[in-house]
Amino acid sequence: MGENLWMKPTDTRKSVALVTGANRGIGLEVSRQLAAKGFHVVLTGRDGGLAESAARRLREEQLDVSAATMDVTDEESVHGCARIVHERVGRLDVLVNNAAVLIAEDKAVLDTTVDEFRRTFEANVFGIVSVCRAFVPAMVSHGYGRVVNVSSAAGQLSSMGTYAPAYSISKAALNAFTVQLAASVNGTGVLVNCVSPGWVRTRMGGAGAPRSVAQGADTIVWGATLPANGPTGGFFSDRRRIDW
Ligand code: NAP
Repeated sequence: MGENLWMKPTDTRKSVALVTGANRGIGLEVSRQLAAKGFHVVLTGRDGGLAESAARRLREEQLDVSAATMDVTDEESVHGCARIVHERVGRLDVLVNNAAVLIAEDKAVLDTTVDEFRRTFEANVFGIVSVCRAFVPAMVSHGYGRVVNVSSAAGQLSSMGTYAPAYSISKAALNAFTVQLAASVNGTGVLVNCVSPGWVRTRMGGAGAPRSVAQGADTIVWGATLPANGPTGGFFSDRRRIDW
């Protein structure tokens, strides 16, 4: 797993949330909002140094945030992080699968190489499968969990066109994975949904996007804090169900 940076939660009775790809962008803001709601947040990133400096910035805002290294495309890194969370915290209540890549955005589908599809699927689909395999079984054992898979309107089959083929198809696959996972844990207290954050000003979304990271994070945090009778196996934007 390489180095792992860690600060013990200050209050182990707190609910614990883990966010992937949280050193910047929407993941960082989701971490901020969940910590502000009283969670201990494990802020993870593939570069442990960047994750730790992002966590330090949130701690300076008096938020309870620790950092851990996790590259979602590296199963050893994922399982190493899960081991550390299990040993040091012993529980995970919320999992936000936020990390993703946008590769070959402007290419047409037949110009997109298999390697570009593969690299996209490694992070956006197989990475999430790997993270869920590492963390969800313990949630099921505890009888409580909220899993939010950060998807995109680009992954909606009902309106899919030619935009960013590898990315869009990976998000459609992520949505299908969400349906399968939600159905397989139905009735265990674990709710699994996917969320489209809208077009947000981040490195991925660009400076011209209409939404702030706070707006982009809102429905993700909503999905992470659903009540026991909340929905599962759905696709949401602005806290409302949207078409697949
Ligand atoms: P971003 O600014 O590009 O941030 C992406 C994050 O994912 C970074 O922290 C990046 O880490 C991390 N990441 C990439 N590959 C990783 C890996 N293998 N392991 C761990 N972390 C990895 O993107 P964003 O706009 O915040 O996007 C967050 C989520 O929202 C994504 O799922 C994206 O598809 C979705 N989304 C965004 C928009 C938008 O307009 N921004 C719209 C729809 C959906 P590094 O810093 O190390 O690269």
